[in-house]
Amino acid sequence: METSNKLCYWFLFYKDQLLLQKENDTYTIPYGENPPVPVSHTLEVDYRDGLPARTAELDTPVEGNDRYVHMGLRASWDYISRACYEKAGKAFQLLYWDSHSRFCPVCGTKTEMKDTIMKKCPACGNEMYPSISAAILVLVRKEDSLLLVHARNFKGTFYSLVAGFLETGETLEECVMREVKEETGYTLTSWRFRGLVTFVTEAENSKTVEYMEYMCLYTADGFTGEPIACDEGELAWVKKEDVLHLNLWEGDKIFFRLLNEDEPFFCGMWATRSQKRC
Ligand SMILES: [Zn+2]
Repeated sequence: METSNKLCYWFLFYKDQLLLQKENDTYTIPYGENPPVPVSHTLEVDYRDGLPARTAELDTPVEGNDRYVHMGLRASWDYISRACYEKAGKAFQLLYWDSHSRFCPVCGTKTEMKDTIMKKCPACGNEMYPSISAAILVLVRKEDSLLLVHARNFKGTFYSLVAGFLETGETLEECVMREVKEETGYTLTSWRFRGLVTFVTEAENSKTVEYMEYMCLYTADGFTGEPIACDEGELAWVKKEDVLHLNLWEGDKIFFRLLNEDEPFFCGMWATRSQKRC
């Protein structure tokens, strides 16, 4: 059994179920030199935030123990501190990265962990870090109306903003221009970077898949050209005051609220269940 030889928090997961220690009606992350149950392969989660921690995946859930209970990562938001929740998200991503980077993608040799977030191939020297993708979200505005895409390609229908992933070799501004052109036909003439949201996304139907995405939020108030038929759905100009009554992505609701409050720039982190949108 692995131990840490020092006091630390233990973020143990069975699938996406985090193990919490229960005391009366409060829940905490197990803390001690040894993990609360035997684990075979543990990873260090860096502790620049002052919370020394290790994480591991459990082969079987901890059951029939009054002291410990499993809880979904998202549900744990309501029960543990914000610092522990963020750490749990990081631990979960590290486990995912670890299980998906065991072999070098260049030469196939078994990789070696060199740092909490770096692996190296002993044969060819290839270095690997957890990957984070960047995407843009653009709110095109005209007077008191907002341009939304009424998307048909999900379960149910959603009103969404123009969105897309940053492509290789592209700047964020180029991505904003391209996505708006592709989805609406408009050529932007003025836009503004308004915020950065870090999405931690749990994919559906999967054991531990979770990825991180930096969503760069823009507003655009100037454009030329004519609208085109959009592949993603129908374009709709919606009055500002009607937007929050529509079926929207959770992240978009936060964006609209902050814009209504005239927030000049904002940063935040949101955990979401996967609703693939880009
Ligand atoms: Zn290699």
